[in-house]
Amino acid sequence: MAKHIAHSIASEAVEPHASEWDQVYNPATGEVLGDVPLDDFGAVDQAVKTAAEAFAEWSGTSILERARCMFRYRDLLERHHQELAEMVTREHGKILSDAYNEVGRGIEVVELAAGAPSILKGEILPGVATGVEVFMLRVPLGVVTGITPFNFPAMIPLWMIPPAIVSGNTFILKPSERTPLTSLRLLELLTEAGVPKGVVNVVHGGRLVVDRLLSHPVVRAVSFVGSEPVAKHVYQTAAAYGKRVQALGGAKNFHVVMPDANRGRTIDALTSSAFGSAGERCLAGAVVIAVGEAGDWLTEAMAQRAESLAVGEGTAASVEMGPLIRAAHRDRVVRYIERGQREGARLVYDGRRHPVPAQGFFLGPSLFDDVHPEMSIAQEEIFGPVLSVMRQPNLPAAVEVANRSRFGNTATIYTQSGAAAQYFRDHIEAGMVGVNIGVAAPVAWFPFAGWKDSFYGDLHATGTDAFLFYTERRVTTTRW
Ligand code: NAD
Repeated sequence: MAKHIAHSIASEAVEPHASEWDQVYNPATGEVLGDVPLDDFGAVDQAVKTAAEAFAEWSGTSILERARCMFRYRDLLERHHQELAEMVTREHGKILSDAYNEVGRGIEVVELAAGAPSILKGEILPGVATGVEVFMLRVPLGVVTGITPFNFPAMIPLWMIPPAIVSGNTFILKPSERTPLTSLRLLELLTEAGVPKGVVNVVHGGRLVVDRLLSHPVVRAVSFVGSEPVAKHVYQTAAAYGKRVQALGGAKNFHVVMPDANRGRTIDALTSSAFGSAGERCLAGAVVIAVGEAGDWLTEAMAQRAESLAVGEGTAASVEMGPLIRAAHRDRVVRYIERGQREGARLVYDGRRHPVPAQGFFLGPSLFDDVHPEMSIAQEEIFGPVLSVMRQPNLPAAVEVANRSRFGNTATIYTQSGAAAQYFRDHIEAGMVGVNIGVAAPVAWFPFAGWKDSFYGDLHATGTDAFLFYTERRVTTTRW
């Protein structure tokens, strides 16, 4: 039997007790890395109690000391950058350079949080009447929770934990049951950085554990990142229990290629956007709309790239794309390829025939052309290495088709024309817009989230939004 994956409560490994378990794999080899508990409610209650007890002392610790913990944490993450990247590759499958970049994007958020004393400063307005002044300051909420998806085991927990705790809250992370291991190492390093025991706790589990957290009377706020139906469920349920919620959901990202785009750079960016991390990114390019003559060169060049893509274990230097997360997910992606064919799209390159290792959950990259907006491969999130190409005569028509999507996470235009870029930026319905950028992920000092069904809530992840989300404002009016 595989090893049980322990919770981490008050920085101690806590043996799980559950009636349902899942297996955690290395998706590149199929090797089982451990058994993860799905319904350990006792651990949820213990973690909430521990976080609640840690709150008084932590919220009373000076903001400068909390920020200094972030400086020390940043240094430790840098020192363990490669080790963390290897952990991500092992449990997720993405190639090592991708995993390294992921950890780097997480470190950025720690750097943002180290600046918390500037961000959390209050406001004062003297003289609102004779002898009367008003001041506003931010106070932490208490115990908050983060529920994260499988596809960024390091970065997404790091979107949440640093801003939440530097603001004085205590935290419970419920990582994805498919990639739960990296988060435990992130927590060990946090303790080493001087964050007291109990300030951050990791509880493993599946949907029942999530529901327990959403309804727990002590939990004040919920940060969620995952698929769209679950984001909606989390938003509605947590709000019904009176909690503050930010729920980042799924995506279907459109990329528009103009005839004047730089061909080489566009093909490079599209290849990495569509097939990088095996398409398992919320910012993955899923549909390309070729405008006018761009259709003449785009499909052929992308087909060549797909054919030459090296697929294999993420630790090998020459490999460009790793496996999918599970065999069942690979089968789901294959069903989308079959659906695309049935719906009449032209399968230009078939990833099912691509050379891939025999072990593990691999699938090669696929490319469709002649895709129509109403087809399921143009509308639904596949979350795999499948790129759909459409044609439109001009930019307004391309934007109109992209805006029919119910999602609005990110969208990119490839062009050398400032006017086209500006039109796109002003008319596309997406929260994160790229101009000649394949994955337009904002740096940590800006808010991260999509529009429409890609996001439920108000305040986004990271940037100053994160600090507003994790604090309450208190306004005091004084007459002396
Ligand atoms: P998922 O929705 O299956 O799981 C996310 C989390 O929710 C996990 O911790 C899981 O345990 C929990 N969960 C799953 N089903 C649940 C249920 N019925 N009730 C309560 N909790 C439940 O998502 P995933 O497959 O791990 O991640 C991929 C998805 O996340 C994709 O749709 C992707 O677009 C999205 N994503 C979005 C962003 C963004 O910024 N918008 C970023 C990364 C990933």
